[in-house]
Amino acid sequence: MAGMVIIGAGECGARAAMALREAGYKGAVTLLDAERHDPYERPPLSKQAMLDKSAAPKGIGGADRLAEAGIDFSRSRRAERIDRAAKSVLCDDGAVLPYERLLIATGARPRPWPGGAGDVAYLRTFDDAARIRAALGPGKRLVVIGGGFIGLELAASARALKADVTVIEAQPRLLSRAVPPEIAAVLEERHAAEGVEVLTDAQVESIGDDKVLLADGTGISADLVVIGIGAVPNVELAAEAGLALDNGIAVDATLATSDATILAAGDCCSFPLELYDGRRVRLESWRGAQELGALAARNMLGAGETAAIVPWFWSDQYDMTLQIAGLAEGAEHHVRRLAKNGALLTFHLAADGRLLAASGIGSGNAVAKDIRLSEMLIARRAAPDPDALADPDVNLKKLL
Ligand code: NAP
Repeated sequence: MAGMVIIGAGECGARAAMALREAGYKGAVTLLDAERHDPYERPPLSKQAMLDKSAAPKGIGGADRLAEAGIDFSRSRRAERIDRAAKSVLCDDGAVLPYERLLIATGARPRPWPGGAGDVAYLRTFDDAARIRAALGPGKRLVVIGGGFIGLELAASARALKADVTVIEAQPRLLSRAVPPEIAAVLEERHAAEGVEVLTDAQVESIGDDKVLLADGTGISADLVVIGIGAVPNVELAAEAGLALDNGIAVDATLATSDATILAAGDCCSFPLELYDGRRVRLESWRGAQELGALAARNMLGAGETAAIVPWFWSDQYDMTLQIAGLAEGAEHHVRRLAKNGALLTFHLAADGRLLAASGIGSGNAVAKDIRLSEMLIARRAAPDPDALADPDVNLKKLL
């Protein structure tokens, strides 16, 4: 019997499967993934999973809960082809899964190093994390290429394991796309204080088995090289099925692909975000994957809702937490607030004063409340007084 089929059991696909049941759907739900593990959370992979050798994947739901919910979950099963005419998915083990509605939640994979390289590691899966973890320990030399989320979180974890760490970033500063310079500077300072060698504006010439050579001739010896230079969406199944692509699988605001019976959600797709004037965005975000997964499930059942989320990202490094709400692209003014608890916040405003994004860094959850309030201001398209935003004595709640 044809029902709902979901390809990919990451944060997005697994949440979507559960959300179908939460919405009262009683028909068949099939969830499949090429991975050998039950659905698990990825955020711990660069953090807790690094620090605890015995850590098992942190499950999302787990096989028992999926079974209880009547979800037919298959691990180690890869979708090979989508037959749109027959409305079915063909799998590598010969299974043919007919669908009434299909959700593609195939995620993204690490951007491969563009040149030749020796034996390098990437971090995307639990098995990747286990491999990296096994190579780290006191005195081991880790070189991470890319000063983004993977590189910095891994650097912090590796220092906790007393490994020597070098982070190589091609841009003049860390996290150049994600956060403003003053927040990147706080992180860079902290990594330096923890003993991480951070090299910015550094171009990698070659990667050997035990050495990374920079364009300026510097050689950095390494027991392990991890590449963290971004992610690319997994679009091959969609492309082969003739679905429209645009920075990932192109979906409309209801997450429908160019074939109305097929939806896509999570890291693999781009969608127009009304809050940002319909700008097409592709989010690599844990919370975004959850929200879009749940939305996709409702729309598979015909709700016809449009994506109305405020993008949100977070990163934990040492005892510090970085949070970002909204999208800062196109901001004309940047307002800084030094909160009384030591947290540093930056508000990004459009030319007309509208708050587009807010980012903050602080110890523990020092930024959580202000970022949450910023999110509400962003969702309401508020244009708060910049002087009030800058003043740590003004509670952001008052600006709502
Ligand atoms: P990322 O956050 O996009 O950072 C990649 C960094 O590498 C960027 O600063 C990039 O600069 C730099 N880079 C690119 N090419 C380089 C080169 N040739 N040499 C040196 N640096 C280079 O990506 P990521 O850290 O690899 O993370 C991959 C995925 O995991 C993303 O989806 C990310 O969101 C996810 N993740 C998220 C979290 C979190 O949200 N806390 C934690 C871990 C992983 P440019 O900007 O100029 O390209």
